[in-house]
Amino acid sequence: MRRTEDRLRGALLGLALGDAVGAPFEGWPRVGGAEVDAWLDDGARLRWTDDTHMALALAQVLDADDGALDEERLGDAFAAAFAEQPWRGYGAGPPQVFALARRGLTYREAAASLFGGSGSFGNGAAMRVAPVALVARSDLERAAELAAAQARVTHTHPEGVEGAVFVATAAAVLATSDAPVDSMPQLLRTTTERMSADPLRRALTEVLAAAPDVERLTRVARRVGTGVAARESVPAAVAALLSGHDVVSTLRAAVVLGGDTDTIAAMAGTLAGAVHGASDIPRRLLDRLEAAEQLEALASALLER
Ligand SMILES: [Mg+2]
Repeated sequence: MRRTEDRLRGALLGLALGDAVGAPFEGWPRVGGAEVDAWLDDGARLRWTDDTHMALALAQVLDADDGALDEERLGDAFAAAFAEQPWRGYGAGPPQVFALARRGLTYREAAASLFGGSGSFGNGAAMRVAPVALVARSDLERAAELAAAQARVTHTHPEGVEGAVFVATAAAVLATSDAPVDSMPQLLRTTTERMSADPLRRALTEVLAAAPDVERLTRVARRVGTGVAARESVPAAVAALLSGHDVVSTLRAAVVLGGDTDTIAAMAGTLAGAVHGASDIPRRLLDRLEAAEQLEALASALLER
C-alpha cells in the first residue's frame, strides 16, 4: 500500500517536474540530449506553466469537494487561476471559455462552442489530469468519469476528452499494478482498448506495438507528431514513458522529441511517476521545483480521501 501511495504521489510531482523541465524548450522542432542534460544539471529554479497551474486548481477542487467534481466550480477555479497568473503560458482556448462563461454560458457549453462547435482536441485536459488518479486510484470507472468531467470544462472534442481519460486511467493502473515494469505495454493496451476516438487510439496502439525498441518508439512518436493535439502529444508521452527507465530518463526522452515539450513531459512525468514513484525523483530536482511543498501537501490530502 505504501508503495502505491509513493507512486500516486509520483504522478502529481512528475507532472509538475516534467512541465518545468520541458518548459524552456516549448516549440523547438528538435531538442538535443546534451541541451536537456545541461538544463537538468543547471541550478536554476524549475518553474512550471499552465499545465501544473491548472492541475493545482483541479487538485484543490477535488480536495474541497471531497473527491466529487462540480464542473462550474472547477471552471471558476481555472478562470480564477488564469486571472491571477495569465503569464503561465496558457493556450488560446481556455481564456475564450472563461470569457464566454462570464457571459452566462455553462463551462461545458462555452467549451463546446470553440472551433466552430467541435470543441478543442488539444492536450489541455490530459496535461492536468494527474490529481484524478490520486482520488480515484482504486476505481477505474470513477477515474474515467472524473477525467472526462474535468476535461469538458474546457475540452469537449472526443479526442480532447479521451486523451485525459487515457492519462488518468493509465496513471491509476500503473500506480496500482504489481506487474513488472516490462509488462507496461500490456497494461496500457488494456487501457487503450477502452477508447473510441480513433486517430488517438490508433496512434497509441502503434506506440505500444513499438515497445521496447527505443529507436522504433522515437520513430513512431516523430511520425505521429508532437503538436498540441491530444492525438499527437499523448502518444508521444507514452513513447517517452516506454523509452525511459526512471523518471528523469523518461522526461529526457520526452523533451528531446521537441514540439509541445512542457506538456509532453508533464504527461510522461505523470505516467513515469506512477510507475517509478516519488521516491525515484532526485532530491536535487525537487529542491529546484517551484511549489514542491504545496504539491506534496496536496498529494497527501488527496490520498487521504
Ligand atoms: Mg504549458
